[in-house]
Amino acid sequence: MLEIKNYIGGVFQAALDGETLEDYNPATAECIATIPRSKVNDVQMAVDAAHSAQSEWGALSMLERADWLDRIADALEKKHEHIAQTESMDTGKPISLARRVDASRSVSNFRFFAGFSREQSEMTFEMADAMNYVHRSPVGTVGLITPWNLPLYLLSWKVAPALLMGNTIVAKPSEITPLTANILAETLHELDLPSGVFNLVHGLGPEVGQSILEAPGIKGISFTGGTATGRIVARTAAPMFKKLSLELGGKNATIVLKDADLSLAVDGAVRAAFTNSGQVCLCGSRILVDSAIAEEFTKRFIEKVNSISIGNPSLDETVMGSVISPEHLEKVESYIELGLAEGGTVLTGGTRAMTGFTGPDGVGAFLRPTVVSGLSYTSRCATEEIFGPMVTLHTFDSEEEAIVMANHSEYGLAGSVWTKDLERGRNFATKIDTGIVWVNTWLHRDLRTPFGGVKNSGVGREGGKWSMEFFSEMTNICVKNPDSPE
Ligand code: NDP
Repeated sequence: MLEIKNYIGGVFQAALDGETLEDYNPATAECIATIPRSKVNDVQMAVDAAHSAQSEWGALSMLERADWLDRIADALEKKHEHIAQTESMDTGKPISLARRVDASRSVSNFRFFAGFSREQSEMTFEMADAMNYVHRSPVGTVGLITPWNLPLYLLSWKVAPALLMGNTIVAKPSEITPLTANILAETLHELDLPSGVFNLVHGLGPEVGQSILEAPGIKGISFTGGTATGRIVARTAAPMFKKLSLELGGKNATIVLKDADLSLAVDGAVRAAFTNSGQVCLCGSRILVDSAIAEEFTKRFIEKVNSISIGNPSLDETVMGSVISPEHLEKVESYIELGLAEGGTVLTGGTRAMTGFTGPDGVGAFLRPTVVSGLSYTSRCATEEIFGPMVTLHTFDSEEEAIVMANHSEYGLAGSVWTKDLERGRNFATKIDTGIVWVNTWLHRDLRTPFGGVKNSGVGREGGKWSMEFFSEMTNICVKNPDSPE
């Protein structure tokens, strides 16, 4: 069993009071690691270490820091399989997904920000008698708090631009999935990243997370997680005037118009619904289909869902693994019961998957991909974030109705529209209140684009120049030409 430590000031160390927490593999229910149950003193130690490192790290040029990002990308790439296996074990996700998304995209995050920064030039604004130069400096020490669904991918999405812009970091991964954050810390240590630039403090959200929010020495918080926690983050950090980026929950619609290419739409809707067991904030958990094609779409959709192979996450052929924990399994099951109580019909799934792998006791947290129809688009199941392998299916009779249904949500993170008419799709997309809309695709990401949500899905944008802006402060330096009259 692994004994994970905090990484503070370049040293791997236990929590100051020695307390630990257990980390489980949700597919087997085995305890695979212990992690420090850190408290406010551990966080303060990390903040002090980050402060000591700030001036030297912030004084490097952006190009020098971009070289660091490339070195980190190269080192992580060498550990690709190790990262994928660790992430799969810690989350219960299939190894193929962990390789394709978690391990690969974590490397890409570092590589992308390194390359992107080299394409940027200093912003200037010329006047008749003066020149304005926009100078960027680091925010200082920033707190990075991340969830369990894409652990290293989401952490690296923040670490890369934070380092690039000259900040020092105190990071807290979800205590449910701490292992790949530890691999990142080991990698930075092996690369001799200056001590204190990156600090990792493990533990519980209300203890370590809250201490990060409250630490006066932390000047910015980039948080990805649930909307309820986001409210706590905003409530705590906003009165201290910390810079805040909040990437929160979603209840995204997959909208299939009458003229959609059905094969494409069915494949896309299944992928959007059940990738990572539906535990991606961008997952399409409400499927809205034009009633003219609903019968054919539903038949093909259910066939495709039934072909998903669920089971041992470490097998190459497995498409869906477990959900994140037995508690989360019960939460999703409670929504299936609610769906029935709200008058819905389970078209497929709805029960635990007793895969050969989990054995007769069904110890792993496996749930069959579940599709519920017959619910109102205003029902709780169709409006609350479930974040698991359960989707609801609804029909509409006109584009106007589809837009009303899609927008009937407190969330506004993402969505997808399926139509052969690209102009129609693009136009339709402008009417949906979300941060991201895909037309005829899903999770197709260009890292230069703005990423984030509206309504209760978050505040601010990350990605490309938006990340660079979040992780820096700008000073406008106006230089007057001495030869020009006042
Ligand atoms: P949580 O909000 O429960 O946790 C997110 C992080 O916040 C964890 O590290 C958690 O620690 C920590 N945390 C909990 N309480 C506090 C606190 N009081 N102060 C500071 N930090 C705290 O989310 P989940 O981990 O359950 O992740 C799932 C959620 O994340 C879903 O709602 C999903 O939609 C959202 N998400 C959003 C994304 C986006 O980009 N918009 C992307 C991915 C997920 P601990 O785990 O130890 O409790």
